[in-house]
Amino acid sequence: MEYFAGEYDIIVVGTGHAGCEAALAASRMGCRTLVLTLNMDNVAFMPCNPAIGGPAKGHLVREIDALGGEMGINTDETNIQVRMLNTGKGPAVHALRAQADKQLYQSRMKKVLENQPFLDLKQGLVERILVEKHKITGVVTRTGAVFKAKAVIITSGTFLRGKIIIGDVSYSGGPNGQPPSIGLSENLREIGLELGRFKTGTPPRVHAKSIDFSKMIEQPGDLKALKFSFIGKGIRREQVSCWLTYTSEETHKVIRENLHRSPLYSGMIEGVGPRYCPSIEDKVVRFSDKPTHQIFLEPEGLNTEEMYVQGFSTSLPEDVQIKMLRTIPGLENVEMMRTGYAIEYDYLPPTQLKLTLETKVISGLFSAGQINGTSGYEEAAAQGIIAGINAALLVKEKEPLILKRSDAYIGVLIDDLVTKGTNEPYRIMTSRAEYRLLLRQDNADIRLTELGRRVELVGDTRYRNFEDKYRLVEKEKQRLGQLSVAPVEAVQQVLIAKGSSELKQNATLVELLKRPEISYNDLRKIAEGFTDLPDEVIEQVEIQIKYEGYIKRQMEQVDKFQRLENKKIPDWLNYDDVKGISTEAKQKLKGMRPLSIGQASRISGVSPADISIIMVYLEQKRREKTEV
Ligand SMILES: Cc1cc2nc3c(=O)[nH]c(=O)nc-3n(C[C@H](O)[C@H](O)[C@H](O)COP(=O)(O)OP(=O)(O)OC[C@H]3O[C@@H](n4cnc5c(N)ncnc54)[C@H](O)[C@@H]3O)c2cc1C
Repeated sequence: MEYFAGEYDIIVVGTGHAGCEAALAASRMGCRTLVLTLNMDNVAFMPCNPAIGGPAKGHLVREIDALGGEMGINTDETNIQVRMLNTGKGPAVHALRAQADKQLYQSRMKKVLENQPFLDLKQGLVERILVEKHKITGVVTRTGAVFKAKAVIITSGTFLRGKIIIGDVSYSGGPNGQPPSIGLSENLREIGLELGRFKTGTPPRVHAKSIDFSKMIEQPGDLKALKFSFIGKGIRREQVSCWLTYTSEETHKVIRENLHRSPLYSGMIEGVGPRYCPSIEDKVVRFSDKPTHQIFLEPEGLNTEEMYVQGFSTSLPEDVQIKMLRTIPGLENVEMMRTGYAIEYDYLPPTQLKLTLETKVISGLFSAGQINGTSGYEEAAAQGIIAGINAALLVKEKEPLILKRSDAYIGVLIDDLVTKGTNEPYRIMTSRAEYRLLLRQDNADIRLTELGRRVELVGDTRYRNFEDKYRLVEKEKQRLGQLSVAPVEAVQQVLIAKGSSELKQNATLVELLKRPEISYNDLRKIAEGFTDLPDEVIEQVEIQIKYEGYIKRQMEQVDKFQRLENKKIPDWLNYDDVKGISTEAKQKLKGMRPLSIGQASRISGVSPADISIIMVYLEQKRREKTEV
C-alpha cells in the first residue's frame, strides 16, 4: 500500500561514490535533499580495490575537492598509504594515489552524510520513478513510500539487474552479497530510457597471515605528507605497505587448462567488460607472449587481515581460483577469504543525457556514476558532484554548470560520455584530455574553486584558503621577478653544482628558475629574503614559472577551441533543411542535438565537411535575419 512519505527539493537514489557527492552538493547548496539507499551499512562502499586516485583519477579527485566535494577530504582522513606517481615525468601527469582503509572510508562518509544540514539519509529500495508529462515528480520505494521532489538523481551503480557470475554458477545479486535492483531497471525502460549491459569483475581476497611476504617486493608509501584536498591538514597515519609479486608459468598453465570453464569464454557473460581492467584470464589470452603479469597485494584496512589481489580479477570457478593463487610466489599456502567474481549490470547509454547529466527525455531526472557507463570510484564521484550541482541549480532556476574540456578532466569525462557515448566501461585517462598541461592535478583549485563559489558550494573557509594561497603565489612570483643576482663566485658555485651553465651577466631569479636543473630551493642558496611559504605555494610558483611558455601556447589552443565551443547551435535548427551533410551525420545530429559547433564536431560520424556546411548554413540564416 503506497503512502505519502515526504516532500523534498531533490532525491538521490544510491549512496555509492556518485550518490554521496550528489547528495552533499545539493544539500550544501541549500536544497532540502533526501538520499535513499538499499543498504545504509554500505555507504561509500568500495567493491573493488581500496585505492583512490592514480593517473587522471587523481586529477578528478582534486577537481571534486576544488569544487567543494568530499572524496578528497575523506581519502586524506582515512588513507593508510599515499604515493605520488610519475614524479619522474612532467607535472601534467604527476598523480596522487592513496590506499584507503575501506571501513574507515565508509564510516567517515556515512557520518558526514548523517550530520549534513538539509540532508536526510534513509534506507529504502527505489522501485519506481514518478513522471508526469515528461517531468519528474518523485519516487516510490519497495515498501510503498512515495517521496515527492522537483529533481531526482539516479546513482544506482552496478546494481541494476545485477547478476553475479563465478565459473558456471550465476545468480541475481549486487556486489559483495548485496541484493540487486530489479524493479528500477524495468521502470527506467518503461519511462522511455534505453539500457545496455556491461560487466566488471573483482579478484579474490586472501588472508594476510597465509602470505609469505619474504618472496615479494615491498611497496612502501611516500614519506612526504601528501594529500588530495586543498583544505584540511590530512592525518599522518601509520603507513602500511603493498607487496609486489608475479604470476608464474604454472599460473598461466592452470588458466589455459581451465579456459573452457571460464564464463568469459563460454559465452555465459553477455555484458561488455572494461578494456583497461582486464581479468587475469583475459590477460593470459590477450598477451600470451608475456610470461608473467604483475600482482600487487593491497591491505584493505588496519583492522582486517583481508588483502586485495590487485591485477587478479577473475570469474573462473572457485576451485580454479584457489589453484591459480597457490602457483604465485608467496601465495603457495594462501587462504582465500572471498572468491573473485564478475558482475553484469544494466547501464544507461549516456548519449541520452545533456552535458548537465539531466536526461533528455525527462526533465528533472539526472543520472550519475557507473550507471552512465563509467568504471571507477573517481569517475562516479565526479559525475555525482556535477549532477548534484545542476539539480540544485535547476531547483533554484539558475544557469546550469557545464565544465568544458579546457576547464577540467570532469569536463572531458562528461563531454566524452554525452557526445561520443561509450560501448565499454569508460575509464578516465590523461590521454583523453587535449589540454593536459592546463589540467594538472596541482592547479585544480585555480581552475574550479571560483566556479564552485559561484554556485554556492564552496564555503568561506575553502574560499579564503584559496584566495590566501594565490595571493602568496602572485606576490612571490613578483618578488622573484624583481630580484636579480650577479655572476659572483657564490652564485656560480651553486649553478655549477647543479650542472647549470655559469652566469655571464645579472639574471633575475625567475630567469634562473626557468632553468630545468634549478629548483626553487636552490634559489635560497643564492639570494636573501626567502620566507617559509607553504609547499603548495612553492609548487605553484615553480610550475607557473618553469612551464610559462608551454602553458601560454596551450592557452592559445584553448582560445581556438573556445571559438568553436562558443558557436552555439540554435534550438530551431532542422538538420533536414541543411543540404549536403551526410545521412549518418544528419541522423547523429538529430539524435544528439549538440549545443555547439564544437560539440557537434566531436560526434563520431560527423565530418569536418559536415561542420563547415552547417556553419555556412547558420551564417546564411543569420544574414537573412539581419536583412529582414
Ligand atoms: C565487482 C566490482 C568490481 C569493480 N572493479 C573495478 C575496477 O577494477 N576498477 C574500477 O575503476 N572500478 C571498478 N568497479 C567499479 C566501482 O566500484 C564503481 O565504479 C563505483 O563504485 C561506482 O560508483 P557509483 O556511485 O556509480 O555506484 P555504486 O558504488 O555501485 O553505488 C550504487 C549505490 O546505489 C544504491 N542503489 C542501487 N539501486 C538502488 C535502488 N533501486 N534504490 C536505492 N538504492 C539503490 C546502492 O545501495 C549503492 O549505494 C568495480 C565494481 C564492482 C561491483
